[in-house]
Formats: sequence, C-alpha cells, structure tokens
Amino acid sequence: MLEMKWIRENAGELRRMAELKGINSEVERLLAVDKARRELRLQVEGARARRNALAQQVAALKRGGLAEAQPVPRPEREEAQPILEGQRRQEEERQSGTAAQCRDPETQHSAAARLQARVQLLQEEGRSLAAAAEAAEAELRRAEAEYEQLMLLMPNRYAADTPIGTSDAHNVELRRIGEPPAFEFAALDHMELAEKLGLVDVGRGVKVAGSRSYVLTGNGVYLHRAVQQLALDLLAARGFTPMEVPVLAREEALVGTGFFPLGREQTYRLPDDGQWLVGTAEVPLVSYYAGEIVELSDPILLAGVSSCFRREAGSAGRDVRGLYRVHQFAKVEQVVLCRADLDEAEAWLERITGYAEELLALLELPYRVVRVCTGDLGFKNYKQYDIETWMPSRGGYGETHSSSLLLDFQTRRSNIRYRDEDGSLKYAYTLNNTAAASPRILIPLLEVHQREDGSVHVPPALRPYMRGLSELRA
Ligand code: AMP
Repeated sequence: MLEMKWIRENAGELRRMAELKGINSEVERLLAVDKARRELRLQVEGARARRNALAQQVAALKRGGLAEAQPVPRPEREEAQPILEGQRRQEEERQSGTAAQCRDPETQHSAAARLQARVQLLQEEGRSLAAAAEAAEAELRRAEAEYEQLMLLMPNRYAADTPIGTSDAHNVELRRIGEPPAFEFAALDHMELAEKLGLVDVGRGVKVAGSRSYVLTGNGVYLHRAVQQLALDLLAARGFTPMEVPVLAREEALVGTGFFPLGREQTYRLPDDGQWLVGTAEVPLVSYYAGEIVELSDPILLAGVSSCFRREAGSAGRDVRGLYRVHQFAKVEQVVLCRADLDEAEAWLERITGYAEELLALLELPYRVVRVCTGDLGFKNYKQYDIETWMPSRGGYGETHSSSLLLDFQTRRSNIRYRDEDGSLKYAYTLNNTAAASPRILIPLLEVHQREDGSVHVPPALRPYMRGLSELRA
C-alpha cells in the first residue's frame, strides 16, 4: 500500500505509473473519497464536541441556573460543519432572547419553569444533533470502507530507471552467463528424457489430478528434492533461516502481501474453511511478522520451503507440454525484511539475485538476467530482475527466478514496523527472490545435461543429495 500523503502529492505520477503497469487504478475516485472522508471526520468530531458542550451546559443549568451556563463553543472549522451552522445560530438567538426575557420583569416566570424550558430546548437540540451526527457517522463509515478498498487497489510505484514496455518482450537483458549447448545429435526435450529415464509420469498425474498435473517418480523425486536442498543449504550458509511454512493462508495474509484483491482468480480457494492455497511462500513468510514491531538492526533473512499452488487462469493453451506451467510445484523462496533505506534495499536486491545465480552456476546452467519493464513488473513491485535459464526445447531462455524489491508496499498493508535509530517507528522494506522452483528447473537440468546416449549428467553439487549418482540412466 502506498502512503496517502504521497498519493495526494503525486497523483499524476501514480496515474501514469499505473497506466504503464497496465493497471486500471481509480486515482481520481480515491482522491475524492479521501477528501470526503476527511471532511466527514471533521463533521463527526465537531458534532461530538458540540454534543459534549450541550451536555455540560444542561448539567450546569441543572446545577446552578442560567447565569452559570456557558455559551456553546463554535466548532473549530466552520466551513466543514454545515449541519451544525443552523443549530449554532438558533442557539445564539435563543441565548440573547432568553437574556432579554430575564431583564424584562413583565415576562418573568418562575425561575424553575424557565430553567426547565431551557433544559428541554437544549435536550431537543442535543437529540437533533445526535441524529445529524449519526447520519454523518454512517456516511463516514461508507467513505472509510470505500477508501480502504481503493487504497488496496493502488499499485506500487516503480523505480525511475525502469524500462518502459508493455510485456516481457520489452525486458532489458543485463547479462548472459554461460554458453547454451550446441548438440551434435538430435536432442530430446525434457518430457522425452523424463519418460525414458522414469522420472516423471504426466499421464497418470493428469488422471489423478487433472490438467497440468504430474507425478515425480524414482530419481525424478531425488532430483526435484536435490535442487531444493542444495538451494536451502546455500541460503543457510549465507545467513538465511530455513522456514517450512503453511500453504494454507487466511485472506488477510494474501491482502497484506498485496496478492489480493487483484490475484483472487489465480488462487485456489477452500470455501468451507475460509482459507486459500498460497502460490508462493512469500505470503506466509511476510505475514509471519504481520502486526509486529520487528528488530531490524540486521535484516531478517528467510528461506521458505513450500509447495505452491496456482490456478494459472487465463493461460489455457500456453506452455501445455511438460513441466513449465503446472498447478502445483515446490519452491525455496528468499525473503528479506530490511530497514527503509533504498541503498540498503537495492544492495539486497543485488545479493538475492546473486544467490540465485550462484545456484545456477552450481547446476552448470547457462542463464541471463533481465531488468523487468513497467508492463511486466506487476502490481506490487518497485524493481525487478528475472533470471531466465537456457531451455533447449524452447530454443531460448525461460524464466526460472524472479527477484523483486517492494519497498514498504507489503509492510504498510501488513503493519510490519521497526524502531529506527531516532526512536521513530517505520515500515520495513521487503524483497523476495526464488532460490529454486521445481519441476520447472528440471527442464534445463535435463535438457542441457543430456548426452547422445540418452543419459543425463548430474552436476557434482547435486550428487550428495542424489545418493552419489553422477548420471541418470534408463
Ligand atoms: P513468481 O513467484 O511468479 O515470481 O515465480 C517464481 C518462479 O516460480 C518462476 O520463475 C518459476 O520458476 C516458478 N513458477 C511460477 N509459476 C509456475 C508454474 N505455474 N509452474 C511451474 N513453475 C512455476
């Protein structure tokens, strides 16, 4: 969530950024609702103050008579108090009229009767004031609810040097590492290899669970887990705390991390239980600290292990063959919470991108790093790199990692703060990056490391997790 003050001061920029992110945000409506709710708040506060003053006046009258009663104070901001203005004038007229009556001996009634009448008048005024205040309060509740909803729909801003573009075709390549293999034989794709080597059974996976499903078998299970364990060990050695997190999440966790309201149709829902299946460990890892004041003298480094579930709505017909786009996969995810310091956060973005690159080096896979353009940046990211690994069957690079800096977008929604050196409370910054997502990473692993005889080379870094196997053979 953005800060409302920033939105007020940069509405034009936000409108432009939302447009370039391809997000239809209602900035104008938000500004109007924000103005209305602030005026309504003043009205409600003014009405409350006036009711209190009236109550005091009634009490004073009852205690000691008219003379002791103080005039009711005027609201502080009169232009914001239309419902009170008429009542104030009536009150002043009544006070001067009553004073005149007191001086006129012919119209003098008993002091008790006058007092009674006066109290009744004030009480009537109190009642009509209460009705007007109630109406203003109801209006305020409606405005606040709409404001909350609109705020949740405002996308994050992005870094000024983000390349402009509408899709991943406009992402800008920063570096290429490693050489794609030039096979001197008819190379197989990962599904042909997996079937020959008995690593994956898609047919029965689909029979059991429907389209985009698979069953890992034999060494396929070991390879899948080996990559994740290697990633986890690498991160643990870099100071990350391993976390095995729930894959069931409450709605608040998805709203708090910026996946909802927009990503609802991509998320599996468990309607009987009011829970959702997460698409990434980023959701439980960030929500783990929701509502807390965290200690950030050193950044919090988390390595989350989880299954991930994605509906992949709207991707019908895309990447239908094989393991590229499936409904359930496993991921080791890096999540960082650091102080609200852009230099520090950007340094962490480079670091977590570097850790993923270290893993790809250990897997002996060629890859490239791209700077993600505005149209591919998504709703919540401020700055993003994607790592794309060479996939021979695609004849190109395919995304295997996404490394993102979100600033305080998630922590404002999740209310995660820390105490700065000056003693003030600030919202932390968050970052995340894939460390390893499998089975997608098995695509380059199998295809790049295949040999003419149909075997697949196992990189040395994986062997300790593969019962020492140096190659996979049928
Ligand atoms: P994301 O969290 O969307 O940035 O995705 C992180 C990584 O998870 C991607 O780079 C892929 O490696 C993997 N991934 C995402 N969606 C899928 C999917 N539907 N099937 C398989 N792997 C996926």
